Amino acid sequence: MKKKIYHVDVNNKVVFLRADFNVPLKDGEVKNAKRITAELKTIQYLLDNNAKIVIASHLGKVKHSDPEKKIEDIKKNNMAFVAPKVSELVGKQVKFIDATRGDEVANAVKEMQPKDIILLQNTRYEVGEEKNDAELSSFWASLADVYCNDAFGTCHRAHASTYGVAEVMKQQGKPTCIGYLVEKEVDSLGKCISGYQTPYIVVLGGSKVSDKIKMIEGLLPKAEKVLIGGAMSYTFLKALGHNVGKSLVEDDRLEYAKDLYERCNDKIVLPVDHLLVDDIANPTIIKNSNGIEIDDGLIAVDVGEETKKLYASIIENAKTIFWNGPMGIFEDERYASGTKFVCETIGNTNCFSVIGGGDSATAVEKFKYEDKFSHVSTGGGASAELIENDGHLPGIDIIDEE
Ligand code: ADP
Ligand code: MG
Repeated sequence: MKKKIYHVDVNNKVVFLRADFNVPLKDGEVKNAKRITAELKTIQYLLDNNAKIVIASHLGKVKHSDPEKKIEDIKKNNMAFVAPKVSELVGKQVKFIDATRGDEVANAVKEMQPKDIILLQNTRYEVGEEKNDAELSSFWASLADVYCNDAFGTCHRAHASTYGVAEVMKQQGKPTCIGYLVEKEVDSLGKCISGYQTPYIVVLGGSKVSDKIKMIEGLLPKAEKVLIGGAMSYTFLKALGHNVGKSLVEDDRLEYAKDLYERCNDKIVLPVDHLLVDDIANPTIIKNSNGIEIDDGLIAVDVGEETKKLYASIIENAKTIFWNGPMGIFEDERYASGTKFVCETIGNTNCFSVIGGGDSATAVEKFKYEDKFSHVSTGGGASAELIENDGHLPGIDIIDEE
């Protein structure tokens, strides 16, 4: 078990808190503050325990290899836009420092009193951040007494702020730990990796088989059934010799899909009917298919009515459910029914239910079903990699044990 923030003495200590404040911005304002809200529990704990809090986070991408794009990215992804929202939500003035390293940062940290909060500029302004640069890591390590990683969404990346700084601080004998958010993520996703209650049902959708190969391979031995939806289905169905019309198919994965299906011992369940259209943007035909075959020229955009019933009958018996990937093109109201149905069915089942995946989390939020799930992961890529790598992520592995 990894060391948690509440295992460490933070009284009067400088805590380097790697948060995930990579929030969506519009015209210099925070459009959705969910990621900041998710961090409040850890910040409040540190305040209550008299810590001096130095927060670092990335914000968007900065393309260092392209000088023109870099200037544009730096202008756009300025943490100064985020700082007022952090102050507002924490309920306390957070001091924003328009620098990532150097004297300005070091001096500001030296002057801190307990319960002070400093927010550093976007970590990705530093070219060394994504390269896990040793010098940058050492500088950040020099600022603090304690390292706390609470940026679950970036734990799958071994960057200077998520990995290097923790490594250096460990070498210096300073404690490293995870915050409340990472703890909840690891606990909940962990229950889909080992020690899960059975029947364990996995629901996988989304656009590409190729994105999910490692996840399917990782989950197949664990799950009783893997229900497939989304565009992924049509690669499987075509591989098994069905007519898929003009549906999205990854032709270079047909062989893989066939092989996987043949060795899965009937664990993989595929749609038995579909919602079909003639044109995604401007359909003149929208109809449920009559069975599994898809007419030439038509496109499957969602699972069909019989599939919903079939999947519901399997989901209703589950004790553990992991769901990743929508059942159809849910962004379009007309094609959202299958995703919504699966969302409601899982949400209304009295089982341990976890959502991992950015688009699936968006769907559940859209349907206002978030509270009905045991856990909705805040990290799309990170949750996927945690599942694929049997519970391991670089940003978590580097942290001290309890
Ligand atoms: P997640 O982020 O939850 O892991 P993915 O990124 O794998 O999910 O897939 C989400 C995308 O898959 C959505 O944008 C959705 O529109 C698309 N999708 C789902 N079903 C279909 C389909 N039948 N045809 C085309 N795209 C689809
Ligand atoms: Mg996605």
